[in-house]
Amino acid sequence: MAGRKRINIKDIGRDIDKLASVPVEDLMSLPADFKENEWKALPEETKQKFACILDDVCILPIPIPKTREEEEKLVNQFIEGMRKLFSKENNWTFLSILDTSMEHCARCNTCSDACHLFEASGKNEMYRPTFRSEIFRRIYNKHIKKDPLARWRHGDLDLNWRTVARLGELAYRCNICRRCAQTCPIGVDNALIAREIRKIFSQELGITTPELHDKGSMLQLKTGSSRL
Ligand code: SF4
Ligand code: SF4
Repeated sequence: MAGRKRINIKDIGRDIDKLASVPVEDLMSLPADFKENEWKALPEETKQKFACILDDVCILPIPIPKTREEEEKLVNQFIEGMRKLFSKENNWTFLSILDTSMEHCARCNTCSDACHLFEASGKNEMYRPTFRSEIFRRIYNKHIKKDPLARWRHGDLDLNWRTVARLGELAYRCNICRRCAQTCPIGVDNALIAREIRKIFSQELGITTPELHDKGSMLQLKTGSSRL
């Protein structure tokens, strides 16, 4: 595995171009009909406009903050959205399983073996089902639960606009199939966590992937099908 390197979760907020780059030779081979097994470089215009700072692709159009105020706004809106996820008034249907998923993870990595995204990436650390969940958990313990010992009990990370942007993009490196959730021996639902992160972006920050939102969710709501 040529390009596999250890990724430190604390780097999630680092001021670097991107967190990981997966060489094509590490990727699962495509069937013969799909010859295009190469990354296409992101257009310069896209990179100038949106926070394409996770890996080689960019799905969520998060505008790059231009001022310190815009950076803070992105972080504060994210935290506000997260707070709503953990309140009965706003999220009673998913609160119980979300709480369980925040409080318990044995780090056994059984879920990683079930995740086709992780496997297809050549077992790149960043695409483990637990990677995004652990970032979300650390933010939760420090900023929502406000555990004064969060740093020592659960591990710390720097919450800045890059952390938020990368976490949002990471939520789209999961297709919410829930294979991981079905294999977890203690009932942690990493798929739900990915979906709830997407929810914060769409409902609190007004940022969605146009293709999925317009041709998927909205069409479903209007017509009951995304195939029309
Ligand atoms: S989420 Fe479940 S399966 Fe995955 S590492 Fe944690 S305890 Fe193990
Ligand atoms: S829900 Fe996401 S993290 Fe879980 S197995 Fe499916 S793609 Fe992987």
